[in-house]
Formats: sequence, C-alpha cells, structure tokens
Amino acid sequence: MPDTCHTIMPTGYCFFLLNLAAGILFASLLFSCTPEAQNRENVDPESYYADLRGKMVDFQIEKRGVRDKRVLDVMTKTPRHLFVPEALRPQAYDDTPLPIGDGQTISQPYIVGLMTELLGLKGSERVLEIGTGSGYQAAILAQLAAEVYTIEIIPDLAKRAENVLTEIGCRNVHVRNSDGYQGWPEEAPFDAVIVTAAPERIPQALVEQIKPGGRLVIPVGRDLQELFLGIKTARGLDLKSVVPVRFVPMVKGRN
Ligand code: SAH
Repeated sequence: MPDTCHTIMPTGYCFFLLNLAAGILFASLLFSCTPEAQNRENVDPESYYADLRGKMVDFQIEKRGVRDKRVLDVMTKTPRHLFVPEALRPQAYDDTPLPIGDGQTISQPYIVGLMTELLGLKGSERVLEIGTGSGYQAAILAQLAAEVYTIEIIPDLAKRAENVLTEIGCRNVHVRNSDGYQGWPEEAPFDAVIVTAAPERIPQALVEQIKPGGRLVIPVGRDLQELFLGIKTARGLDLKSVVPVRFVPMVKGRN
C-alpha cells in the first residue's frame, strides 16, 4: 500500500489537513474551557462575575484612559449584573449598553466610568443624577460621594432601581419619580449634577441648582449628541465638549 499522504496528495495539502485537524481539536478544547462553559458546570457565579468585572475595568475603562483610582475601584466592586434583567446577566460586563425594560438602557461601562471621573468626586459631595434607569450609575456615585439624589421619570424603573439599591445596601441614595427638567429644588444646591439622558439644550433649572465651582456632566443633542463638562462660575457655566455620545432622549414631563 502506498503511503497515501506522500504518494497521492501533494505534501502541502497533507500539511493543510493536519493543521486543520489540530485546529479543530484546539478550538474544541478552547470552547470547553471558556468561563461560560465552566460557569454552567461548577464555578461559583459570584467569582465568575467578579472575574468579568475585573476584565471590564482593565480593558474597557482603564485602557481607554479613565485614571481615577477611586472610580476604578468602585466599578471593580459593584455588581452590575444585578442591575440588568436576569436573562441579560451574562452580558452585564460586555462593552455595550443593555436594555433594562420600558425602552430604556443601562449605559456602556466605559461611559459610566468616564462621566463619573469627570465629576471629580472626593467623598463629601451631594450629587444629583437625572435618569436613574437601572440605578447602576447611582450605586457607583453612592460609593464616591456623601449623598445621591436621583430622579427617574418612569415609575416602574424608579421602583426597581430603588429595590436593587436597597438590596445591595446603598443607604445614601434617594430615588424620586418625577421629571428631571425641574431638578430637585428642595435638596439643592448640589456639588455635582450628572444627566444620563440627552436633552436638546441644557435645562436652566439644573444649572441653577449647582453650587458655585460645582460640576455638570451632561449629554446634549438630538441625533448627534456631545458629552459636556460644565463648571459653574459667577458668570454661568464654563462648558467643555468631551466626546460624541449616544443616549436615550431626556423626555419632557407633563408638568
Ligand atoms: N443612569 C442609568 C441609565 C439611564 S437611561 C443607569 O445607570 O442605568 C436614561 C434614563 O433617563 C431612562 O431611565 C429614562 O426613563 C430617564 N429619563 C428620560 N427623561 C427623563 C426626565 N425628563 N426626567 C427623569 N428621567 C428621565
């Protein structure tokens, strides 16, 4: 019998087949060793998510330029998967926004990191957030500031966010179901205001509720939006455009 490989097939072709077989073997080994596969069998879900969280902070946030160590630490600790619908938990640490119901989304992790860093929080601040959504951004702020006041226009989302925040022990977050265009005058002034839905123009009531020297981080625009950092001065707001972004619109309430 002739040696099939050497007599009938050209050597290159034989080499190719060997490589292909090795490739298939390697891919099947790799697949059976992915964290997803391990998780399905016997890995503790909390350490599985902690591992994904660490990678999220390294590759999506720190490598893109967010440097504030407090922000990075808090994002490494906060269980983002608890803020998304159960079916989407395996994707909670992906480099993308995710749907949270009622047509709304939780922001991409990098955008949360970037916006939080822009607020320059040191720990003693009172912060106002407009657009509670899932409550994740509020949970991050709660660990970096003294008090967080967050407003959500959709009652269902406000309730759900409040429940998760209580569940994970964020006692310094106050959730209110109302229209963010009015801000929260009873609790003003704030050291920082963060808006996580995009209005077409900066709402004046929000500017008025910032302390002198305080900060505003806000996406502005309709189809093309830009993220702005504003610093409140005696003359008004000193504005700097940071990066193009895409947020859900900040809707007008009925009042
Ligand atoms: N910060 C959120 C993501 C926000 S998505 C998180 O961490 O998950 C934007 C949210 O803004 C949506 O939940 C939307 O309902 C809310 N929103 C839109 N217009 C609003 C308004 N006028 N007042 C308060 N919330 C508003």
